[in-house]
Amino acid sequence: TDTLHIVGGGMAGSEAAWQAANMGVRVVIHEMRPQVGTFAHQTGLLGEMVCSNSFRSDDSEQNAVGLLHWEMRAANGLIMATADKHRLPAGGALAVDREPFAQTVTDTLMAHPNITVEYGEITELPRDGTWIIATGPLTSSSLGQAIAAETGAEALAFFDAIAPIVYHDSIDMERAWMQSRYDKGETEEERTAYLNCPMDKAQYDAFIDALLAADKTEFHEGETAGYFDGCLPIEVMAERGRETLRHGPMKPVGLTNPHQPEVKAHAVVQLRRDNKLGTLYNIVGFQTKMKYGAQTEVFKMIPGLENASFARLGGIHRNTFLNSPTLLDGQMRLRSRPNVRFAGQITGVEGYVESSAMGLLAGRMAAAELLGGSLETPPDTTAMGALITHISGGAEAKTFQPMNVNFGLFPPVDGLKGGRRGRKDRYKAYTDRAKADWQDWLAPQAAIA
Ligand code: FAD
Repeated sequence: TDTLHIVGGGMAGSEAAWQAANMGVRVVIHEMRPQVGTFAHQTGLLGEMVCSNSFRSDDSEQNAVGLLHWEMRAANGLIMATADKHRLPAGGALAVDREPFAQTVTDTLMAHPNITVEYGEITELPRDGTWIIATGPLTSSSLGQAIAAETGAEALAFFDAIAPIVYHDSIDMERAWMQSRYDKGETEEERTAYLNCPMDKAQYDAFIDALLAADKTEFHEGETAGYFDGCLPIEVMAERGRETLRHGPMKPVGLTNPHQPEVKAHAVVQLRRDNKLGTLYNIVGFQTKMKYGAQTEVFKMIPGLENASFARLGGIHRNTFLNSPTLLDGQMRLRSRPNVRFAGQITGVEGYVESSAMGLLAGRMAAAELLGGSLETPPDTTAMGALITHISGGAEAKTFQPMNVNFGLFPPVDGLKGGRRGRKDRYKAYTDRAKADWQDWLAPQAAIA
């Protein structure tokens, strides 16, 4: 009963095990590989990177993912320490030699006196004991079914269909306007819930041509290429007919452009608020398999988005993830079954770094609980806290999609200039504040860790 069980020895599970074991808790890692594989993993090693060998930007002053690196290093993170050890030259990015990286993660965990690794697939959600489920985007199907049975099928997704997300302060409001279709809604807030970007016929035609011509990514082998209704990529809709989008997500009805009330728009692109802070907006219905470079080019053709800056671009992938805002508490526990925590990409964060970060927090929180105490959720001014706050309630549950760490998740710093010009100062202020607050959060734990 005083043992922490961790299912999945990937980015999140490895970090969680390391953190908990260093706090003096006995840990068992349950890993299904090499007996049971996934379409993306190649080895039986713990901490395997399934695709790129990069942990992205290492700039902890101007970049939110670099800040997350900094916070994990300050917390004695295994993934960061191992990445630093096997670092390859890559400019400002933290790229690593992947095989020795995973081998070192595996050896370090195996050598820890408090850690045991048991190989084999876990197929049920455990009723007793203290558990962290960190089985990732490619969670085995039997465990996925067991989770769906507990959470309800709608609360567990097996694909993500991500529409691009734009920073609100980069949208040109001289062209766009706020209005819900037919002014629907009880309150003023509901009647102005959408941000609209109008197109005339020439702009629409050029946009469709660009969509059809754009470079697209193919599905990975082993990923099902069958699309679900309601999450067709926009370019596939455009292929079905030039008017399809105008009758779908881009229909111009029920909207009046206050900048040009006498002109009827030929098509309208709608964006919807993506977080409670109102700093992020997603382009409704614009999930896409276009390559990233093509996306920025094509989406900047939308009137009002000419200078848009993107918090994340669109995509469609095989990805098992929870509707965390409705299911998890601020301690990453399943509300309906608090002996089970979730960590890593399955909680609705996206990326190696974010996944191991959520493993770090879950490991520390679970260990603190087993030791008879508890840890407060880190403040949302830190990168760790901003992410966990987003997934456990800051995000809109209805449109919840996996999220990378980004400055749009941070509460604004008072008294700083908005817009592009102030951006450098703003990011420095965010990261300075985060580092101080993260150290304050860590300090009382130093005695145990
Ligand atoms: P994982 O690292 O996948 O770890 C989960 C572990 O759980 C695995 O070892 C798996 O074998 C095990 N497991 C699953 N089910 C069970 C079970 N029932 N019982 C026991 N063990 C089980 N992120 C990036 O930052 N850069 C990229 O380039 C990138 N490329 C990606 C490419 C693909 C094809 C996919 C699917 C994802 C990619 N990601 C990428 C996203 C994501 O960050 C990584 O998948 C990351 O590894 C997630 O960490 P995790 O710990 O949540 O899951």
